[in-house]
Amino acid sequence: MQPELSPAAPRDPQAGVGPRTGSLSLPVRPRRLRRTLALRRMVREHTVRVDQLIYPLFVVPGKDIDDPIDAMPGVRHLSVDRLEAEVSEVRRLGIKAVLLFGLPRVKDPFGSDATKPDGAVPEAIRAIKSWAPDLVVMTDVCLCAYTDHGHCGVVEDGVILNDPSVDLLTRMAVAHAGAGADVVAPSDMMDGRIGAIRSSLDKHGLSHVAIMSYAAKYASSYYGPFRDAAHSAPQFGDRRAYQMDPANGREAIREVLLDVAEGADIVMVKPAMPYLDILQMVRNNVHLPVAAYQVSGEYSQIIAAADRGWLDRTTVMEESLLAIRRAGADLIITYFAKDYARMSHHGS
Ligand SMILES: [Zn+2]
Repeated sequence: MQPELSPAAPRDPQAGVGPRTGSLSLPVRPRRLRRTLALRRMVREHTVRVDQLIYPLFVVPGKDIDDPIDAMPGVRHLSVDRLEAEVSEVRRLGIKAVLLFGLPRVKDPFGSDATKPDGAVPEAIRAIKSWAPDLVVMTDVCLCAYTDHGHCGVVEDGVILNDPSVDLLTRMAVAHAGAGADVVAPSDMMDGRIGAIRSSLDKHGLSHVAIMSYAAKYASSYYGPFRDAAHSAPQFGDRRAYQMDPANGREAIREVLLDVAEGADIVMVKPAMPYLDILQMVRNNVHLPVAAYQVSGEYSQIIAAADRGWLDRTTVMEESLLAIRRAGADLIITYFAKDYARMSHHGS
């Protein structure tokens, strides 16, 4: 049934139904280019390439640990000695980059383990680089998994102190870069940390190491399953004093432009799907590569609905990644990276 677009539209099926362009009176038939799969593929405006995806890995101290994370099916906690199989699978699938998250041996108020050169993340970086020198190793730089209070910085009288936190984050970034990370990714949202990390890396002879800034990171409830994975839920209060208010859009541009000015090489919007408008605005305002993080809650809600038979896991995954690309992301950090790579190898 064609919708009635205009009372004057001609009804003769041979003559060409549908709306007409103003001046030329030609029938407009966008469906011509949707008629066959080959035509549809030819006129596709956006694609998702496997080498645009970044796969997060959760590294834990200890030996022989390979534990599934309940709220994120398919994602695991791995000790460094159990990482090799995962890394070789990632490479075999054509994924070019991993993003490492670490857990400490012990948590304390200052997240001391985060800055140690023999922590789980630096050890994982050295191991991955020995197995796969060409794999791009990115590392999350933040204190929340390392502090006993679960905040992303140093706390005094219930307040998260900015500058002392930046000092620790800077040391953490240098520890990762010194171990061989290609890209460090500060996710804390403290003011001025990109500039501080950039100059410290340069001072330590690490000017070749890039910074991917979590530039517009929102205080989002979509992080729920991740906090399970990183054991990083705040023990008091929440993160609204440093992460952004979901109600704000213009502020994201301000944050992003600050990080660009401070020397970021890639800027990120996090989460992705609920913030596609932000992603598009950022894309239109910077000339750097833009990354988007399809966060744990975005991933787990699709998996959960698929498990109930309410959504089709594969096609919803593909559609969600396409939407993020269409909004302007060059790179996507996603727990679906391996699934998407498997799907593309089999042809969609
Ligand atoms: Zn954090």
